[in-house]
Amino acid sequence: MSSSETKSAPDVAIVTGGAKGIGFGIANALAKEGCRVALFDLDPDALETAVEALRKVQPDCTGIKVDVTSAESVDRAIDDVVEKFGRIEILVNNAGIVKDKRITKMSDEDWDSVISVNLKSQFLCCRAAIRHMSAENYGRIVNISSRAWLGGVGQANYSAAKGGVVSLTRSLALEWAKAGITVNAIAPGIVDTPLFQKFDAELQDKLKKTVPVQRIGTPEDIAEAVKFFAKREASYITGQTLYVCGGRSLSSPSF
Ligand code: NAD
Repeated sequence: MSSSETKSAPDVAIVTGGAKGIGFGIANALAKEGCRVALFDLDPDALETAVEALRKVQPDCTGIKVDVTSAESVDRAIDDVVEKFGRIEILVNNAGIVKDKRITKMSDEDWDSVISVNLKSQFLCCRAAIRHMSAENYGRIVNISSRAWLGGVGQANYSAAKGGVVSLTRSLALEWAKAGITVNAIAPGIVDTPLFQKFDAELQDKLKKTVPVQRIGTPEDIAEAVKFFAKREASYITGQTLYVCGGRSLSSPSF
């Protein structure tokens, strides 16, 4: 990415929910590519630890406390990044939460918060970042969906949000194709992160057995796919959703 012939400064990448789990894995991989990375996250302690680790790889990294469900918080943070680094080349919309319940037990808050953190956040971050990317006629947006967008028992809220991410991605890809901005999505399968570790041991074990390649994914597995979409050379790929799930999208695991 930083090896572009057209410019000398390393790309600037924003990773939402970047202080932990998959987001941190993505941020670390982009920093290793030389990117100047800005982490947006709600958790100040995790942000501090993450930025400290990233700076060992690429000193020009920063962390900003952001609630990605708030337009005001997102707009301010995007402006801060542009003020600090001059521009934004890469946006990775990764922040997400789960509140799994069967629909009869699902509260309005369970629905609203999951839609808000997983989907509305991506609308807000895309809107704010594209204002800057379009001025430069260049951008790489990678939205993190989930294999669960295909549907899941107890996941009506999460699945709807992640399906929304796929549709948002396709629409924005069309809308901004002429402006040099690509928009793609990744649908991870089961990945070993704090989110996955919140499931009880029995469910974790059950889930592992449903993966065709017989292992749980790592944040690095997801980061590889993000790096691919984020490359300058990936300019002919837009509006796509790539499964990174050990083959789990090929069958319909029921448990
Ligand atoms: P995680 O819980 O480990 O990390 C999520 C990060 O997002 C945390 O650092 C958290 O502080 C941050 N965050 C949450 N709400 C926020 C908000 N309102 N504003 C800013 N930051 C906020 O989660 P993860 O497992 O690393 O998941 C990352 C993404 O990958 C999510 O979108 C998730 O849906 C998706 N995903 C995860 C898995 C999996 O198995 N772990 C599978 C498929 C998709």
